[in-house]
Amino acid sequence: MPFLLMLFLTLACLPENWPEPWRLVGSPVTSVLLTWLGVLLEVGLAFAVSRRVQLQLHDTPAPRDQVLRNYSRGRLYHLIGLFASYALALYFFGYGWAVQELWTRHGRPLPELLLLAPFCVALLLSWTCFYDAERALSGEGREAHDEELAAGHPRKFWSRAAYVGFHFRQNLALVFLPILLLLTEKELRRRFPALNQQWQVQASFVGVGIALVVFMTMPWILRIVLGLQPLPEGPLRDRLLTAARRLRFRCSDILLWNTRGGIANAMVVGVFPFLRYVLLSDRLLEDLTPDEVEAVFGHEVGHVKHHHMLYYLVFLLASIFVLGSLVPQNELDEALNLRERRDLAVLPVVGALGAYIFLVFGFLSRRCERQADIYGCRAVSCQYAGCDGHLDGHPLPDGGGCLCPTGIQTFIQALEKVALLNGMSRDKPGFLQSWQHSTIARRVSFLQSLLTDPRAERRFQRRVFLVKCAFLGVLAVGLVVCSL
Ligand SMILES: [Zn+2]
Ligand SMILES: [Zn+2]
Repeated sequence: MPFLLMLFLTLACLPENWPEPWRLVGSPVTSVLLTWLGVLLEVGLAFAVSRRVQLQLHDTPAPRDQVLRNYSRGRLYHLIGLFASYALALYFFGYGWAVQELWTRHGRPLPELLLLAPFCVALLLSWTCFYDAERALSGEGREAHDEELAAGHPRKFWSRAAYVGFHFRQNLALVFLPILLLLTEKELRRRFPALNQQWQVQASFVGVGIALVVFMTMPWILRIVLGLQPLPEGPLRDRLLTAARRLRFRCSDILLWNTRGGIANAMVVGVFPFLRYVLLSDRLLEDLTPDEVEAVFGHEVGHVKHHHMLYYLVFLLASIFVLGSLVPQNELDEALNLRERRDLAVLPVVGALGAYIFLVFGFLSRRCERQADIYGCRAVSCQYAGCDGHLDGHPLPDGGGCLCPTGIQTFIQALEKVALLNGMSRDKPGFLQSWQHSTIARRVSFLQSLLTDPRAERRFQRRVFLVKCAFLGVLAVGLVVCSL
């Protein structure tokens, strides 16, 4: 989602001069009205999706998995609608042109924030609606909740403001800050037109530069925007630090990600050990056993051990270059009459990149997640292949070189809990939740296959290695061909 959002909003920010809309629209005021009507419809859709979940849960109790499936389908349609209505507003209703007409008449520069407003408002109001669905899905107010009450720690679902604030912050960190950088670059070009000529040529280099800066400083950005704090001193922190030493993994800190109990998730950010954090959400720490938390921690360590982030970076940058040169720029310019509108020339590249990310990067990412899953199992495995539990304290070997049935089971339990806590359907979580990670059901069944056939792991690792090499090979050839 953040990827797609970033690409899309970048497109909205690029043009310097918006074309006149479709003739029927007529005046700028009509265009603005039509645009905001679209926002209203989109929020209405969010409300309807959310309402349906609540009705299904309360009035006609439907199987939970079915409700989840319907909900995630609804969210997908809503997201497509969000993008489609905004694109419609910009390119057919001429919202960009209207803002330009109404605002820049007196020589004021085009305000990008005003351009982004319909999209952002639609998104914010939609989250406000989805809150009710997720609250209902969390089971607040149902019998299951009474057990928790009896146990003395009632789980309160977060407030609406906290929920919307959380999503806003997360998207701010991952999407809006990069866009802000892009806008700064644009503003600089406006102020210093002399730079314009040079920068036009080097636009792709500037883009890559921005991407690199964002990528390198992402740990800091996340820490500040998400308000992350170090995991408090205690047995769990000691345990994870011991595990990190045992696995020979270095990071600058383990941070607690306060989601007010909303999300059970973990993340690792940062390529270099001196600026690398492992994030663990509060919900994850509350509801998983220490063994399971250590397994999830192991999954994040696995991403670093397999150098996934570095690979993704090289892969994406090389892909941008190759795709950028593959799209026949000249013919496209002619066909779409882009000669007059240099700022839109990047449009086909961005479109191709979006499709490419979903298909190729999604494929690669699912393989990498599986590698990290195996590493998560290793992180809590002892060296006895026939081990039947770690109750009597089997020592865990250094370096995470072994895989035992207990380790695999611990990781599987953690995965199942994460799906349950996040209200994700096990087998059909919908495209948005599975294109990058695959489904929980598939991940679990792969790990279970390792229990019966330990050699399957080596075969899998070999295959992934070959796939990764093949991708890099193709990209390297592409780069050579493109630079000829
Ligand atoms: Zn992962
Ligand atoms: Zn064991």
